[in-house]
Order: sequence, then structure tokens, then C-alpha cells
Amino acid sequence: MRFLRKLIKWWFVFFQTQRPDFKVTTTDEVPVHYRAGIVYIVGTPTEPWLLTFLCPCGCRAEIKLNLLAEEPPYWQFKIKYKKINIHPSINRIIGCKSHFWIASGRTVWHLNRAQTKNQK
Ligand SMILES: [Zn+2]
Repeated sequence: MRFLRKLIKWWFVFFQTQRPDFKVTTTDEVPVHYRAGIVYIVGTPTEPWLLTFLCPCGCRAEIKLNLLAEEPPYWQFKIKYKKINIHPSINRIIGCKSHFWIASGRTVWHLNRAQTKNQK
């Protein structure tokens, strides 16, 4: 049991520290072809206006998050140690209805994901 616990802990630490779900790239235009696991920051380096990426649930929906405070709703992001944090959460009201956060480049699912998935 101790071995198993160690293995689980190692697994958890490994994936928390080594494998962000999302890498970040900047682009001046909305991409035509999306790659999974990339958050595209669209705009100029000083004035980004959009975050866009494929839904992490695997449904391949293109998620577009407005960054312009003057046109709510809008999101904010921070990059820390090359890992992106997006605030507030992303709550899809159409399609897969996923609800998640992006924290330190990783997808953090909302607790009732399983529940909402089953309600489809
Ligand atoms: Zn999805």
C-alpha cells in the first residue's frame, strides 16, 4: 500500500509540474488551424484582445475569450513561469457544456462536470 501511495503521489507531482495541458503562443490573427493544447493570445504583445484554444474536453470546439474590459464579458490572464492562468472560469453554455478553469497551464474541471455531462 505504501508503494501504491508513493506511486500515486509521484504520478500527481509529475503531471502537476511537468505536463501543462496548455502551452501559450502569441499571434496577430485568429488561427485558421488550431492545435490542441495551445492557447493562442491574439493581438499585439502590448494589446492582446482575444484568447482562443480548443476545448480541453476533446470536443474540438474553438473557445474564444474576449480580453477587452470595455466589452463584457471578458477574461483576464497571467503568465507565470510560462504557464497561463485564466480568470474567471470558462463555462460553456452550448455544445459540451464544459466548465473549467485554466490554472498554471492546466485544466481544472468544475466539480459538477460529471453531473452536467450526465444531464445531456
Ligand atoms: Zn468541449
